[in-house]
Amino acid sequence: MSKLYHKYKIAIYTLVIFILVGVVAMIYRDIRYLFLFFGIGLVDATSRVLVVHYPRLLQFFRLTLLVLVGGGLFVGICLIIGVNFQFIEIFFDLSAWIVTGALIQLIVARLILPFFAGNAFCSRACWNGIFFEFTNPKKHKKKPKKRSPLLAWAYIVFLVILGFGVAFFAPVNPAEDQMVRSWWIIGENLLIMGGGFFLTLSWGSRAYCRTLCPFITISSIIAPYSLLKITPVAANQCTGCNACNNACPMYIDVLQAVKDRKRVSDSMCILCERCVSSCKPKVLKVATRLPKHNPKEENSFGSAKLEH
Ligand code: SF4
Ligand code: SF4
Ligand code: SF4
Repeated sequence: MSKLYHKYKIAIYTLVIFILVGVVAMIYRDIRYLFLFFGIGLVDATSRVLVVHYPRLLQFFRLTLLVLVGGGLFVGICLIIGVNFQFIEIFFDLSAWIVTGALIQLIVARLILPFFAGNAFCSRACWNGIFFEFTNPKKHKKKPKKRSPLLAWAYIVFLVILGFGVAFFAPVNPAEDQMVRSWWIIGENLLIMGGGFFLTLSWGSRAYCRTLCPFITISSIIAPYSLLKITPVAANQCTGCNACNNACPMYIDVLQAVKDRKRVSDSMCILCERCVSSCKPKVLKVATRLPKHNPKEENSFGSAKLEH
């Protein structure tokens, strides 16, 4: 029983957390939110169970999950029901004293879930993320644009001013008019994906995510304290091949964490597990803690292979 629990514990945690969030959202809003979060939790937990049995298909399962959840949210909730999940909608809604999906997404995906799974929403549920995943250049830029916290927070301030400005001074507040809101949904998403695509060409992969996106700027405050992190579970097996760093779309120095025998605590990690999939000796894994100290392993670590 305990073996089974250890094998599937991440899937179990995932399902339980989504159900709890769904129950809270149901109490606050209505039963549809329970079904929504239960559905997302079930799909996510299923993909994690499948990964245990077919680790080589990790990226296939993750991308399938991303397309199902992200695509489902975009088509079902954004386009059909007309709920705008983008950041600026929060300020339209606040001006009209209403609460919709944008604020719920901010609270659930950016302030609650990051304590459990960091910025994993970005690699498993964001529909803009789907676009960036499939349009990322295959080759890494040697000198990608580095993240500037000043620029990221300035962008948030700009969005807040724009949001309240439109809500109070435009003829119609998008929060109060379905048609106007639909145009914002289409316009904003085209702008983010189009702008993000061109930024990627000169600034490197996931450029919009790394430099501007307000959602990750907020969840990145909590992400370093996440329960789940990329963890070197067999650091002594590392060959120093650098494949993990080359695979990381967020340009995180995974190898340094392996050398330091630390979990990856970079605030920008989106838990996409590309580093895990790219590591042939299976050094890396998503885990809740480092493996127990092993003096034998300590002696062999870095002795032959990690000398750079
Ligand atoms: S950083 Fe923003 S745009 Fe990129 S995947 Fe995350 S939420 Fe989506
Ligand atoms: S460190 Fe690994 S999991 Fe985190 S963003 Fe980079 S490749 Fe993805
Ligand atoms: S952790 Fe794995 S992918 Fe990264 S350098 Fe070591 S062996 Fe290579």
